[in-house]
Amino acid sequence: MNTDLIFDNTEIAFSLKTDSELERAYFLFKMISIEPLVRIGTVATNFAIKAHLPIEGLIRSTVFDHFCGGVNEEDCLSVIDKMYDKGVSSVLDYSVEGKENEKEFDSAKDKILKIIDFAKELNAIPIAVFKPTGFGRLSLYEKITKGDKLTVKEQSEWENVVNRFDAVCRKAKANDVAVLIDAEESWMQGAADSLVTQMMEKYNTEKPIVYNTLQMYRHDRLDFLKVEHKKAKIGKYFLGYKLVRGAYMEKENERAEEKGYKSPICKSKALTDENFNAGLRYILDNLDCMSVFAGTHNEDSSYLLMNLMKEKGLLNNDPRIWFGQLYGMSDHISFNLANKGYNVAKYIPFGPVKDVMPYLIRRAEENTSVAGQTGRELALLTKEKKRRKTL
Ligand SMILES: Cc1cc2nc3c(=O)[nH]c(=O)nc-3n(C[C@H](O)[C@H](O)[C@H](O)COP(=O)(O)OP(=O)(O)OC[C@H]3O[C@@H](n4cnc5c(N)ncnc54)[C@H](O)[C@@H]3O)c2cc1C
Repeated sequence: MNTDLIFDNTEIAFSLKTDSELERAYFLFKMISIEPLVRIGTVATNFAIKAHLPIEGLIRSTVFDHFCGGVNEEDCLSVIDKMYDKGVSSVLDYSVEGKENEKEFDSAKDKILKIIDFAKELNAIPIAVFKPTGFGRLSLYEKITKGDKLTVKEQSEWENVVNRFDAVCRKAKANDVAVLIDAEESWMQGAADSLVTQMMEKYNTEKPIVYNTLQMYRHDRLDFLKVEHKKAKIGKYFLGYKLVRGAYMEKENERAEEKGYKSPICKSKALTDENFNAGLRYILDNLDCMSVFAGTHNEDSSYLLMNLMKEKGLLNNDPRIWFGQLYGMSDHISFNLANKGYNVAKYIPFGPVKDVMPYLIRRAEENTSVAGQTGRELALLTKEKKRRKTL
């Protein structure tokens, strides 16, 4: 492991936080570390939103402002500027979820196109992102993934999905802005993967513009990467990958058990970690035609990537390598990496408060269930609070 441990510098990690923001973050992580509170809070919040109770202000001043940049892109600008001053770039993540009709899919596509235009003008936003289910129904992806025949209506719906992907990737290439395409549930991912490969073939001819996401908690992803590599060599295009561990583990395991098939998820956390790190190594060994965006809050994997870069004699800011974290989490990784000149970007979720609630609830649940992560945030915040008191 790297002897040059950098992530424990809390002065750099929290340099953008005022004392009161530090207190708020501490209070928030303390609250979400209490599992029953998150469960009750989730039910109560969902109820209050459905009943149109006036709780938006409360949500905004607590979880929303900590984990989101604002309700629209302009709202996020001050956060984007402040982070960029410290060398951390932004990926504007339109986090409205669960919309299921053509009008809403078109409006999500228009939103991403607008962000790519915005990004063209701002060095602080070198990368855009979208979710496949933001552009089409999950059940449609699922049907294609299963190999079922589509009805005529569904075929035309799918054409719309393809056209939305194409419009975004085309604009990304025209504006020289990379676009990350998130990965979701395994039962819909096959259709998304094929479509993203098509986009890579078409738009990654000179460099990686379109990035697929590999969820390395899936035991088949390393083989998938190798197969995609072979195809890209033959087709002479570049590959871009966001590497993550994966966010739908419980859902995946439950569904596999319910339906009686083998779970696509690695059997243990250690195996997921091994797989993630193997993915990093594979990409670093093939940088002639691949780029990586390592979306992780895991310190060991981040140090591993730094070490691999060092071993290969790469510059810290090699344009083929990015580190990524979510806004409101793991600032100790993001800001310390940026301070050493690495390419770092944080996903900044935004959208109307009630529409980003599913995203916020996932963050709260993740921080409750991911062993160690909340404890780590609290320990770092405590350290920084103490450091400031001694000044
Ligand atoms: C910038 C960014 C973009 C992201 N984009 C996506 C995306 O497109 N799609 C997506 O699904 N997720 C995405 N995520 C979320 C990500 O997949 C993880 O859920 C989250 O980052 C936690 O993993 P970690 O690498 O930070 O490390 P850790 O906290 O070390 O690992 C936690 C992860 O390990 C895995 N794990 C935990 N226990 C077990 C077990 N018993 N067996 C097997 N595996 C286990 C799970 O994937 C769990 O989330 C993104 C995260 C970031 C930071």
